[in-house]
Amino acid sequence: MGNDNYLEKENFKSLVEAAGKDRVQDRLNIIEVFLGTEEHITIDQICRLLTEEGYDYEPEFVRQCMNQMVDLGFAQKKQFEGQPICYEHRHLGRHHDHLICTKCGKIVEFANDDMERLQVQVATKHGFHMLQHRMDIYGLCAGCLAGRRALLPLALAKTGERVVIREIAGGRTARARLASMGLRTGDPVEVINNTGEGRIILGHDCTRLAIGRGLAQTIIVSLPDDGRGQDKESSEG
Ligand SMILES: [Zn+2]
Ligand SMILES: [Zn+2]
Ligand SMILES: [Zn+2]
Repeated sequence: MGNDNYLEKENFKSLVEAAGKDRVQDRLNIIEVFLGTEEHITIDQICRLLTEEGYDYEPEFVRQCMNQMVDLGFAQKKQFEGQPICYEHRHLGRHHDHLICTKCGKIVEFANDDMERLQVQVATKHGFHMLQHRMDIYGLCAGCLAGRRALLPLALAKTGERVVIREIAGGRTARARLASMGLRTGDPVEVINNTGEGRIILGHDCTRLAIGRGLAQTIIVSLPDDGRGQDKESSEG
């Protein structure tokens, strides 16, 4: 790894010098710190690492230098939904995709040859010559999943989650309102949109429903995996 980083740094140096850029040593210090981390990091985080190493650069210079690394193929700029812009290494000849936890923001990298092959197949089938793609899978990481309660108010369910209504705790009025929308205990619903404020959009059978946040607090749901048997669909075929 260390040797890889040395070669990357030398490669960067010669390109920067050839481009006639100023502050070559400063840029080398920045790439050195960047190559030393395996994280997907923001400009602020890179600045913090630089400070820890005893360097004090203006964030604007760091940003400019990072973008130069992107242009020259040493770094990749990414923005995952709900997260700030970040940078990661770009290793020649190596590709990976990402799993992103929507709760804690954890990012996990993966590479799967079968999935890569399938994507080329799909593109080809549609007459496309595939040039690039990104596969971002959003969900809850193992840690966040383990920390979740089996039962929770609908107001806390995440966008994209499929849950089952277990109890309507809001008394007769709430039950009547939900019944008028066609929602009953035992019904499976899909959380189409829950931004954490305002109304929650649900998919129920073939209808989209907007539920006020207050009402959503009174609807107790369970996650599909607490029923265990729910994951029965086989993945064959
Ligand atoms: Zn991929
Ligand atoms: Zn998480
Ligand atoms: Zn990555």
